[in-house]
Amino acid sequence: MRETVEILGVQIDKITAADALKKAEELVRTPGVSAIYTPNPEIVMAGYQDPEFCKVLNQADLCTPDGIGVVYASRMLKNPVPERVAGFDLTCALLESIAKTGEGVFLFGAKPGVAEKAKEKLEETYPNLVVSGCRDGYFKPEDEPEIIEQINRSGAKLLLVCLGAPKQEKWIHQNRDKLQVNLCMGVGGALDVFAGEVKRAPEIFIKCNLEWLYRFLKQPSRLGRFKALPKFILTVKKEG
Ligand code: UDP
Repeated sequence: MRETVEILGVQIDKITAADALKKAEELVRTPGVSAIYTPNPEIVMAGYQDPEFCKVLNQADLCTPDGIGVVYASRMLKNPVPERVAGFDLTCALLESIAKTGEGVFLFGAKPGVAEKAKEKLEETYPNLVVSGCRDGYFKPEDEPEIIEQINRSGAKLLLVCLGAPKQEKWIHQNRDKLQVNLCMGVGGALDVFAGEVKRAPEIFIKCNLEWLYRFLKQPSRLGRFKALPKFILTVKKEG
């Protein structure tokens, strides 16, 4: 049974990082396509504004609170999640785990060449990891059957979909019944970080809940996206 808090219509799991990993490990070994999403405030806000997207998020098997804003929102609603569970951290922990148990991962998304670079780097970090295939995230609708075929043929049990939100969650939702993997995860810019194209914030920023500030300082073009945060908090306060 999932224990969740509803934030602006989106069900967020009240789960620790350790339990989220246990659940992901179980899902990656269980036949039938499961989905994990990792909503940050921007994604929850998108769900609030788009009922279709909200439905997609609520059909996940696990929705972890990625972003300190979501943690604060749950506290404001007096139904707190235990901690932030960042999609990137959960992905790393799961990759480390399946490197030991042998399930393969397919890397789908990011600009051409990035997934291949991520594969190389991941194989250095987790020497026994099976990367079953790669595919960039820039495609036409008519390419989709071939992409699904490539993923299914690869035999991967875990599919990382890195197309940015809400595209990745909608893609997973639309193709769930055609895929033969066990678990799909929508994890945004993770492949860019694995490939070394984008740097994750230093530990101190993460510990102080200031990862958003680091990302902003590194990419000021994201300003528009950060403006969503105060709006998110105000909306939670209003809609409570
Ligand atoms: N992306 C993609 N296909 C698209 C649009 C975006 O593969 O049609 C990729 C983009 O190259 C990047 C990722 O999706 O690697 C989104 O990164 P972002 O940092 O925006 O993710 P988020 O902040 O949502 O985690």
